[in-house]
Amino acid sequence: MEYLIDFRNVSFTYGSATENPVHALKEINLRIKEGEFIAVIGPNGSGKSTLARHFNGLLTPTSGEVLVHGLSTTNSNQEKQLIEIRKRVGMVFQNPDNQLVSSIVEEDVAFGPENLGIPQAEIRRRVNHALATLNIFKYRRESICHLSEGQKQLVAIAGVLAMKPDCIVLDEPTALLDPFGRKQVLESLKKLNRDEGIAIIFITHFMSEAVYFDRVAVMDCGEIKMDGPPGDIFSQSSLIKEVGLDIPVAAQLADELIQRGFPVAPGILHVEELVSNLCQLKSKI
Ligand code: ADP
Ligand code: MG
Repeated sequence: MEYLIDFRNVSFTYGSATENPVHALKEINLRIKEGEFIAVIGPNGSGKSTLARHFNGLLTPTSGEVLVHGLSTTNSNQEKQLIEIRKRVGMVFQNPDNQLVSSIVEEDVAFGPENLGIPQAEIRRRVNHALATLNIFKYRRESICHLSEGQKQLVAIAGVLAMKPDCIVLDEPTALLDPFGRKQVLESLKKLNRDEGIAIIFITHFMSEAVYFDRVAVMDCGEIKMDGPPGDIFSQSSLIKEVGLDIPVAAQLADELIQRGFPVAPGILHVEELVSNLCQLKSKI
């Protein structure tokens, strides 16, 4: 089977020719299928951003190989192949200010497809579709500097969406946002995944966000230490704590209630789940 993205024994070292090389990725094997919705978590310095930059050839492995739809990012000194890879895998970073290039919303979203030499009418269609999908069509003529950080991040995502990618990689896109902006970004990504089948790879340090994904990969010291559905990952609380991460609040509360003898269902991850579970218990008393 051909994977959307296939990391084969990927290692990456910064400054390999220096006295202090940093082995940021160590023999990573990671496969992403089309339409997946996956979060990557891990403590600071565990290699998440280095991993992200390998998805579309911004960095290439020191050893091993990354394949995007079977195309190697390493052999892409043929520029054509790298352009193809970047069309398929879009990238969104933490700070939208570093990613946005125009001052007006719709011009910014058009920037990517314009660079691909796509006909004007098609660009118009793509820009309108991207803006509507992300619920920011009404801001299309606004100056970007008037938008909130969350709205700016949606513009950055719209710019990537207008390239018609199969996959979007986001490196801590919510780190600088307020809770409302975070919620908007997360819900928009869920919609892109559900309605357009776009695979989402979402790097975050918020455990409360990771629980909304179908799959969670945990990085530590340049390795992927755990990989599975969030219910399986967060129920291994001692492993999660060993890596230096938190357990999502709802899971932690449910765990403590169970330990104190409350018959709460195991595997709870979301606050809403815990509340409805407790309400059911109450009605039985
Ligand atoms: P994360 O995103 O999980 O915080 P990074 O991928 O940024 O982790 O970093 C992984 C390791 O690589 C860290 O030890 C970091 O200090 C190091 N590193 C990151 N970028 C560079 C760089 N440009 N040069 C040298 N070392 C780097
Ligand atoms: Mg990082």
